[in-house]
Amino acid sequence: MKKNVLMYEMDSFSYVDSIKRWNKTIIIPVGAIEQHGPHMSMNVDVNLSLSISKGIAEKINCIVAYPITYAAKSQQRSGGGYHLIGTTSIEGNTLISYVKDIIKEYIRHGFKNIILINGHFENNSFLMEGIDLALNDTKDSFRKIALLSYWDFVPEETINKLYPDGFTGWALEHAGVMETSLMLYLYPDLVNMKKVLDLPPADLPLYDIYPIIPERTPKSGCLSSPKNASVEKGEILYKVCVDGISKALKKEYSI
Ligand SMILES: [Zn+2]
Repeated sequence: MKKNVLMYEMDSFSYVDSIKRWNKTIIIPVGAIEQHGPHMSMNVDVNLSLSISKGIAEKINCIVAYPITYAAKSQQRSGGGYHLIGTTSIEGNTLISYVKDIIKEYIRHGFKNIILINGHFENNSFLMEGIDLALNDTKDSFRKIALLSYWDFVPEETINKLYPDGFTGWALEHAGVMETSLMLYLYPDLVNMKKVLDLPPADLPLYDIYPIIPERTPKSGCLSSPKNASVEKGEILYKVCVDGISKALKKEYSI
């Protein structure tokens, strides 16, 4: 069996051995199953958080857990909305309990450092709550859990370089240039640029309305146009995220 950072591709005996002997750090990628326009598959958030986690694990020498796939409800101002068919969300309470249970399992396996790498904007608060509840349930020894979203590690100079016509913010990047470029670089078979609908960015108010008014989401399901996405931009984004996050985690965990 090949050497792998992916926990779920290891045999359990080697896994136990590596935790016991040297590896006290695990990354849990968190994504979503969500529509990403006519030009991309629905597993974008899962695949990107998983690939970035894998890149980091190879740099900082740790293990990557099986990703959390179903996740928080897509909101209209950051994911087009949970009303769209294909988008398959779970309730906040379900996600909190699920995250809590998974963290407790990895603590039971012997990990001291747990890192959640999020790829779906709406998950954040529920992940925070799940982490807190897991720690309350397992107070017996010190542990450090980090929670981060990968796009926060794209520096301003990279944003200026990749968006020469101006940047509309990460929320509107749903199925836009960033995610599409990363997918073109990492999973080209799951992108079809011929199917891109080049529409203006979503024009949504600065507040949320419930129930969602479907007509307010652009027909593409993308909140900004992915037209200017490219493999080259994807490579730049992937590298700045993997390098930036690895550096921050090395410092935080002294590893
Ligand atoms: Zn996404």
